[in-house]
Amino acid sequence: MALVVQKFGGSSVGSPERVRAVAARVARARRRGDDVVVAVSAMGDTTDDLIMLAGAVTGSDKVAAEHPREMDMLLTAGERISMALLAMAICREGVEARSLTGSQAAIITDQTHTAARIVEVRAERVRETLDAGAVAIVAGFQGVSTAREITTLGRGGSDTTAVALACALGADRCEIYTDVDGIFTCDPRRVPGARRIPRISHAEMLEMATAGAQVMHARAVDMGARYGVDIRVLSSFVDTPDDDESSRGTLITKNPTGMEDLVLTGIASSRGHAKLIIRGLPAGMRTPTDLLVALAEAGVSVDMITETPEVGGGVVVQLTIREDDVVRAREIAERVGTALGGVGAIEARTGLARIALVGSGMHGRPGVYAAAFRTLLSVGVEVEAVSTSSISITLLVPDDREDEALRALHAGFGLDRAVAGAV
Ligand code: ASP
Ligand code: MG
Repeated sequence: MALVVQKFGGSSVGSPERVRAVAARVARARRRGDDVVVAVSAMGDTTDDLIMLAGAVTGSDKVAAEHPREMDMLLTAGERISMALLAMAICREGVEARSLTGSQAAIITDQTHTAARIVEVRAERVRETLDAGAVAIVAGFQGVSTAREITTLGRGGSDTTAVALACALGADRCEIYTDVDGIFTCDPRRVPGARRIPRISHAEMLEMATAGAQVMHARAVDMGARYGVDIRVLSSFVDTPDDDESSRGTLITKNPTGMEDLVLTGIASSRGHAKLIIRGLPAGMRTPTDLLVALAEAGVSVDMITETPEVGGGVVVQLTIREDDVVRAREIAERVGTALGGVGAIEARTGLARIALVGSGMHGRPGVYAAAFRTLLSVGVEVEAVSTSSISITLLVPDDREDEALRALHAGFGLDRAVAGAV
């Protein structure tokens, strides 16, 4: 008998029919003799609707910042609805089920409303529920803080609930059910040749998720990596006749075998990036240091930074940031530059997409940059900035050329041909 954690996202429980389909799936797992813990998201667009409702009532578009506690109280209601309905639907299948709020499941978080981090999962009542022979349904995305307040884990946080439960309970399997059958080499809606990745490492998945792959919450992947929990991402819309899920979706695991020959595992991207070019600054370490400190204090996160000498002795600093931060970052650069003794023209380029080429196969392998640049040159896409980690290369390109760049890179690295991560 295995202990299985199954997570169902909002679209998987988006209607009464979907709730019943999920209930049938959970009931089958239980009847096979497994202990089943379910983490469930709010139905469909419930969370968005609740946020809109809060905006309508307060007339403010910053309601989460103004009423963080009440916002958490409000949003946790979404998962209360789905968990109770799912429990009823499972009982209708003849299998016992009991729903628990994050607080009842003793998912203890810090005190950061709307973006809390889990500090401990006690899960006594989850274990009691399993011991009583019932399926335990836990509301996703929420917990109770060390100050006994209701908290939420940030948008998309139900994945994190599931992985945290799997870690705490020592689950044999953690299955994340969503509306696509796993992680793809690139977004299949934009790159028709995209393929499902059968296996991917936690580290690669973390890069993909942070770089914009929508399927999994990055924090959940990070937690899976730290606790060594394998996570299978798969579709709740596909039924496997014998319910053998082991060949479906994508397995996120420590050391996927058989992908040694591939340079890249996948490509992810996101929009809304910008580049700030600050000219005429004094040379030396003081300049980037003061700039970075001031930006950090203002909560502006800097992605890439370069400093190059200018004719005449000064330096030009280029920073890439989120588009939303451009106005603030510009003011800060102006202020810091002036305090440093002078600043020249400041130019902002907005409308950039950030493309991340991800793959542990690129580690220590020469020519990956070269291949990426050659490919982009061949389709005439300009690269605005680059950065790298040991398993990824990130390129900033104009967002009106993003799809073209993605398709060219996907084909250029052979991702449409290769059986990515095949075993
Ligand atoms: N319902 C929450 C959201 O949409 C949590 C989740 O779905 O994971 O952000
Ligand atoms: Mg949701």
